[in-house]
Amino acid sequence: MNTNNEYISKNSYLRKLIYSITPFTLLDYPDKTACIIWFAGCNMRCTYCYNPEIVTGKGKYSFDDVKNFLLSRQYLLDAVVMSGGECLLSDGIIDIITEIKSMGYLVKIDTNGSRPETLKQLINKQLIDYVALDFKATKAKTFEITKADFYAEFVSCLDILIKSDIQFEVRTTIHSSLLDQSDIQEMINELSALGYSGKYYIQHFRNESETIGNPGPSYCDFNIIDCGNEMIEVVER
Ligand code: SF4
Repeated sequence: MNTNNEYISKNSYLRKLIYSITPFTLLDYPDKTACIIWFAGCNMRCTYCYNPEIVTGKGKYSFDDVKNFLLSRQYLLDAVVMSGGECLLSDGIIDIITEIKSMGYLVKIDTNGSRPETLKQLINKQLIDYVALDFKATKAKTFEITKADFYAEFVSCLDILIKSDIQFEVRTTIHSSLLDQSDIQEMINELSALGYSGKYYIQHFRNESETIGNPGPSYCDFNIIDCGNEMIEVVER
């Protein structure tokens, strides 16, 4: 298989965009073996973010560095998870994913939902196989929690995914001092109104984690499963 540099520009090939690699995971791509590439940098500053060093730190590796690792795992791993930070911010991400696909990997994108145009390009070029889309908060709480306002972009990403045939999931991290039961109910209603049906994954904040905003411990005192409706099944992780 030709994995030479016929797809990828020299610039994106050599820039140090990548913070680190997790060489093996069974948890991050449904039913597949995978590795995770963590892209440095993010356009949000979520209060509960577990990865402050990735969000504010500089990349340590270029795709050139990572490529040798991917070649060594070719046909041993099923998939590559592109995470971060926000992987879709990186210049050359389309070239990089094109190269990864040419090696035969499935590709999953973990995205904060701020880059609908890039997401659309990747789907149109048939370069991705699975997307995990963050639903950060209600419209009213989006800026308070993320220190950015990409609610409209999230809605665009959701619409693009609903209209595509890509497998995807919507997920929210809950910290009890940031989102309460009425917020979750509002977010589920909004998902339904936007045409989403299926599973909605709720991830509970892990109290032991270091974070960007130090929101303190989280104590969720309501039954999240009960917030679902006939269209949306709430699944806790
Ligand atoms: S949790 Fe927020 S700040 Fe952290 S990487 Fe994800 S989008 Fe960026």
